[in-house]
Amino acid sequence: SSTLEIKDLHVEIEGQEILKGVNLTITGGEFHAVMGPNGTGKSTLASAIMGHPKYEVTQGQIILDGEDVLEMEVDERAKAGLFLAMQYPSEISGVTTSDFLRSSINAQREEGDEISLMKFIKEMDGAMDYLEMDKNMAQRYLNEGFSGGEKKRNEILQLMMIQPQIAILDEIDSGLDIDALKVVSKGINKLRSEDFGCLIITHYQRLLDYITPDKVHVMMQGRVVKSGGPELAQRLEAEGYDWIKQELGIED
Ligand code: ADP
Ligand code: MG
Ligand code: MG
Repeated sequence: SSTLEIKDLHVEIEGQEILKGVNLTITGGEFHAVMGPNGTGKSTLASAIMGHPKYEVTQGQIILDGEDVLEMEVDERAKAGLFLAMQYPSEISGVTTSDFLRSSINAQREEGDEISLMKFIKEMDGAMDYLEMDKNMAQRYLNEGFSGGEKKRNEILQLMMIQPQIAILDEIDSGLDIDALKVVSKGINKLRSEDFGCLIITHYQRLLDYITPDKVHVMMQGRVVKSGGPELAQRLEAEGYDWIKQELGIED
């Protein structure tokens, strides 16, 4: 199994410091939830891990199994086993969902070891059945005209097919009705194994009713300020964030 270590991570966007020393370690077999008020840097953390060019790391380290992730290009990070399901998945006109998926899988493989078309279609059909997706979606352009729920299911389809070592899921539950939420959770839970670690960014306990996290972290003002077990998410749902602010003496 893999281990992703984030150490004292500082990240700036356009000269403004957003992350101010994030520490977090995720190992295969573990599901971690990251919660926190809007604008505290959760999506910034996800983007910085994946190497989005807009996010400048000014201090700290990201290490995957002893390798320096910050030295890797974006495609190398994916190849090393990192996966990001974005809060707002992009639409790509002219590229079908199926073609995108197959090239993503092959981008992770060595040359000459590409997945065969037959095997790919068989696996994709199986995963789409599992996620109760309309098969026609595979032939539509990526995310184009997809509903919010379809986009999120499609992210989970990618996750299931790519089988990364470590995944970061940014608000995979936002905009989902209860049935879609159950299906998305079912897909994530299916991946639970020693070879898969997951960082689940969410605002709501309701996702965590279906996906039990091993650890829950609270981010505020660009730092992880509190960590605990599933009971921490339940307390946040019931009481909000004020008690943590008071406990830590944080001003708004
Ligand atoms: P969260 O996901 O916790 O809601 P974000 O990481 O999206 O928070 O944003 C953290 C802060 O960084 C916010 O103040 C936001 O306005 C700012 N920010 C995020 N992305 C950008 C960007 N691309 N350009 C400028 N500011 C940004
Ligand atoms: Mg947000
Ligand atoms: Mg966000």
